[in-house]
Amino acid sequence: MKLAGVRTAGERRSPLTPETIKKLKALGYEVAVETGLGKDAGILDSAYEEAGASVSGEPANGADVVLAAGPLEGEELGKLARGTRLVGMLDPYDAPERLAAYANAGVDAFSMELVPRITRAQAMDVLSSQANLAGYKAVIDASAHYSRAFPMMMTAAGTVPPAKVFVMGAGVAGLQAIATAKRLGAVVSATDVRAAAGEQVKSLGGSFVFVKEAMEEGEGTGGYAKELTAEQQKAQAELVAEHIKKMDVVITTALIPGRPAPKLVSAEMLGSMKPGSVVVDLAAPRGGNVDGEADGVTVLRPKSILDGLAGEASNLLAKNFLSFVTLITDKEAGQVKVDPEDEIIKGIQLTRDGDVVHERFLKA
Ligand code: NAD
Repeated sequence: MKLAGVRTAGERRSPLTPETIKKLKALGYEVAVETGLGKDAGILDSAYEEAGASVSGEPANGADVVLAAGPLEGEELGKLARGTRLVGMLDPYDAPERLAAYANAGVDAFSMELVPRITRAQAMDVLSSQANLAGYKAVIDASAHYSRAFPMMMTAAGTVPPAKVFVMGAGVAGLQAIATAKRLGAVVSATDVRAAAGEQVKSLGGSFVFVKEAMEEGEGTGGYAKELTAEQQKAQAELVAEHIKKMDVVITTALIPGRPAPKLVSAEMLGSMKPGSVVVDLAAPRGGNVDGEADGVTVLRPKSILDGLAGEASNLLAKNFLSFVTLITDKEAGQVKVDPEDEIIKGIQLTRDGDVVHERFLKA
């Protein structure tokens, strides 16, 4: 069995680390790595070689499984032979052409963002591993742009008040943002539309602000949120407008799977904030939670916040990928074995034998 790790345009993270290469070799894989795969994550080609991988410009030749951190397209995709299993964060939403290209290339594509949220799949959950780091980095980036301090300090020259941080969306990223802001000494509040989030926010020492009507309806399936009605959105906007005026730092993380991010902060709300305030919109890659700009308020809309944390992000990502490869490997037989009836496979397989097979992406 041969497994290759390839680079993706614009992506700093690596789908393989020396640690996971050793484990893949123990599973029976010969591992090939593209030159420079880990460069932006602080992993040298020599470290991959020391772990037992070969490093070359064309690692995918003859590979049974190809790992890629981001979606493969065009020339990169053209290098994969028919029947290759492509495993990666393939960004399947709103990308029918890319899915068609995988099908036409005869590549069996597995999109790791779609891993179902069941206990057995937790170790493969790339969204959680990456969102956790993103929540941490959002607070670090906010503090770098905030012209005041986060913790309260009592000094001879006077008292420095603690920063007031508001986290919107208390899922994986939001909870880590709350924990990080608390560690830095901020006074933290948060909101969400799922009732379960309230207890989690409080257990981290944050206060929970919420709209009762939205909480009764906001819980969707699989632990995710669903879109609010127009009335609930209005009630939420009123609550946010009142709360945000008093905030110094706002981190927004609200997402609804497969939908554009909900708009939660308007230009008018930004305008009500104190000069020097900072807003980080972690939902920016999916359309953003924050609209507009306001004088004196810094709004950060990072397209890929983990670019600045590529080393750690790669470590976790590579472990997620390793767990998935283990699932599709029959070590005794020395073969890749994909069970189409497995709940995890059903959840993430986009294409098989030249067709799009994922029910969510079959022609709308
Ligand atoms: P997500 O990234 O899809 O969304 C981020 C947060 O935004 C969610 O908490 C969501 O409720 C919230 N949100 C959506 N619309 C909103 C709105 N209008 N206003 C305010 N908030 C809004 O979610 P996520 O972080 O991936 O995870 C959601 C939940 O799933 C969490 O409770 C998490 O702990 C759980 N989870 C479970 C597993 C598992 O069981 N294996 C794995 C990962 C996450």
